[in-house]
Amino acid sequence: MSTKILIIGACGQIGTELTQKLRSIHGTDNVIASDIRKLNVPVVNDGPFEVLNALDFNQIESLIEKYEITDVYLMAALLSATAEKNPAFAWDLNMNSLFHVLNLAKAGKIKKLFWPSSIAVFGPTTPKNQTPQFTIAEPTTVYGISKQSGERWCEYYHNIFGVDVRSIRYPGLISYTTLPGGGTTDYAVDIYHKALSDGTYECFLKEETTMPMMYMDDAIRATIEIMEAPAEKIKIRSSYNLAAISFDPKEIAEEIKKHIPDFTITYEPDFRQKIADSWPASIDDSSAREDWGWKHDFDLAEMTNIMLENLKK
Ligand code: NAD
Repeated sequence: MSTKILIIGACGQIGTELTQKLRSIHGTDNVIASDIRKLNVPVVNDGPFEVLNALDFNQIESLIEKYEITDVYLMAALLSATAEKNPAFAWDLNMNSLFHVLNLAKAGKIKKLFWPSSIAVFGPTTPKNQTPQFTIAEPTTVYGISKQSGERWCEYYHNIFGVDVRSIRYPGLISYTTLPGGGTTDYAVDIYHKALSDGTYECFLKEETTMPMMYMDDAIRATIEIMEAPAEKIKIRSSYNLAAISFDPKEIAEEIKKHIPDFTITYEPDFRQKIADSWPASIDDSSAREDWGWKHDFDLAEMTNIMLENLKK
């Protein structure tokens, strides 16, 4: 049976690039994009697209049957900063969308499931540097609580029902194609846009706020690699730590200055500072590297080059 993929939340920051990459690998007709909103974007216009609410179990089930879907990527969620503004809805969306696809996998309707977790599963009591795979995780945001609970449920569905679910704890992701969706690491995308348009950026975090980050191409490759790996190599069925680079706002500003010497940055921390302070500064991802061969490609200098070159266009 050939691979037929459904991406839920395909118009978002990750979904946009994931859909395009998966279509280039499996063929456009084998990758069905879906989202609650229908935007005028390539993901919608260049291949099969369905309007789908991730909270509607019956709608997901009928799409899976209609297209004979084998693999689902669930990318719909409320992100960290947005979730804090609407905790009850964030809990509903982030948990129930996951239960829907886990239950469809349990019922044998799909073969494989990808669900993203986040560094937000960690909290202020977690070791901040080189945060281990297995460590204290006491998240203090509703987003982090939903991701941590999601991880527990993924592992449970794997252990008890044999569901083939695979997951990564993404760090902050940086890309130029689609704007980020309301996370605490969004500054690391906004800063490039503002550097080019205004020559200056007011950062919502303090200058020494170091967080783990990753260029989108690395994240997409990791997502596809973990899904393509033989099942026996995926030894962790909650979620894998994944790392590439760590930097703070001052360091990214210094890197931008190498291209735009007059660029200036100011700091006006808001409610997101507290979220950032509760997260790791760097991540130990040796389990992902050992189990399924993860290796990152992009560093801060190369990513800055790519971001500025492409945003200029
Ligand atoms: P995003 O906010 O950019 O995109 C989410 C997409 O889901 C949007 O297109 C939105 O319209 C859609 N959506 C929202 N509610 C929906 C619903 N009820 N039904 C169907 N679609 C719905 O988010 P993203 O950055 O692409 O993140 C995708 C996943 O990766 C999320 O689970 C997020 O928590 C996780 N993640 C992202 C990052 C990051 O830096 N971007 C980091 C860690 C984890």
